[in-house]
Amino acid sequence: MGRPERFAIIGGGIGGLTLAIAMQRKGFQVTVYEHAPSLKPLGAGLGLGANAVKAFAEIGISDHILKAGSALKKIRIKDQKGNTLAETDSERISTKYNVVNNFTIHRADLHEVLLQQLPDQTLQLGKGCVDFIQTKSGIKLIFEDGSSTESDYVIACDGVHSVFRKKLIPESIPRYAGYTCWRAVVNDPPLVDLTETSETWGAGHRFGIVPVSKGRLYWFACINSSENNAKMRSYGIKELLKHFGQFHSPIPEIIRHTKDDQLIWNDIIDIKPLKQFAFGNIVLMGDAAHATTPNMGQGACMAIEDAAILANVLATSESVESAFFAFEQRRIKRTTSIVNRSWQLGRIAQWENPMLIGIRNSLLRLTPPSVAEKQARFLIDVNLH
Ligand SMILES: Cc1cc2nc3c(=O)[nH]c(=O)nc-3n(C[C@H](O)[C@H](O)[C@H](O)COP(=O)(O)OP(=O)(O)OC[C@H]3O[C@@H](n4cnc5c(N)ncnc54)[C@H](O)[C@@H]3O)c2cc1C
Repeated sequence: MGRPERFAIIGGGIGGLTLAIAMQRKGFQVTVYEHAPSLKPLGAGLGLGANAVKAFAEIGISDHILKAGSALKKIRIKDQKGNTLAETDSERISTKYNVVNNFTIHRADLHEVLLQQLPDQTLQLGKGCVDFIQTKSGIKLIFEDGSSTESDYVIACDGVHSVFRKKLIPESIPRYAGYTCWRAVVNDPPLVDLTETSETWGAGHRFGIVPVSKGRLYWFACINSSENNAKMRSYGIKELLKHFGQFHSPIPEIIRHTKDDQLIWNDIIDIKPLKQFAFGNIVLMGDAAHATTPNMGQGACMAIEDAAILANVLATSESVESAFFAFEQRRIKRTTSIVNRSWQLGRIAQWENPMLIGIRNSLLRLTPPSVAEKQARFLIDVNLH
């Protein structure tokens, strides 16, 4: 059931690759243009919620993805001494709603599984798109290497610094969340229960522990800071231990188990929710449309939801333009809600004021498990059609 339209997907990240698979399975002709010159196993870990697993199932690839990661049993928020403030029984929610509620995977493993599902020639590497021009017959794409091509439609999956979003909505610049983040994946971590994920909230700093498959552990550490701070950029293990050395075990042990060259550092940013994703023959999706702070672990999940939904609306709409518009209408409310909730959650998690921290921790202890279940339901109940 081949279709005549040519679709260019800009960006071969999680969103772009998932979309390419979903569209090809519905008979669309797609080419993915990726800026990176080669495929390297990069990145740290990723937590995926039930909504992402459902979207992969909708596309038909969830079995492959699930095999490459592992499901989590419990998620805990702790104080600096290690006392549990709140707990989500993820395993119980999974059983109750017949879903895989929380799942972790190494980014490199996810990329590999996605690439295996794509026919050769779909992905073109070393094709950083620097500009586009509307022509009578479609859109001309101009690449960094001086080459160009024409396409009928463009789906911009080029991430938080999207060239397409910057040109279509110049005022939509990334906003800094106020904290900076280090991540690493280590093998055979000391003293860690590899079925539980936890986040420990201190005063202006927090530490997260997320097991990924094959005995590996992904950890992240956030510290309040000014934006693009040169001192933070130069941080290694020794400096991180000054902030987290007094945190409960096994946090100092995990940091000591990590080498400086395993650290990935970046400021936490998002995009203030947009009011428009569809622009005639161009649509934005994934981080290009709704980059969020990582506090709910939902950025990639939303990109994966986008991919399943966009492929479905394209297959059932009268025209591509109307499908792009329908996609926008379907996605703005949900993604705005997640971006805003995640922003607020990050602010609360990074509080420094001892009185506010005391109130926060007491409230967390009193929060009934039904609240975590309600939150999970909001994610699980995504409508993918
Ligand atoms: C610290 C941290 C932790 C996170 N943890 C989680 C988590 O646990 N769970 C979760 O769901 N999400 C998480 N996220 C968010 C998640 O990483 C993103 O939401 C997700 O990667 C978005 O996918 P994307 O494909 O839209 O964009 P990206 O992954 O950014 O991919 C964009 C791709 O486009 C390419 N590109 C960029 N510009 C161009 C161009 N001009 N031309 C061609 N190619 C281009 C890039 O090279 C890249 O391959 C986290 C983010 C951070 C920063």
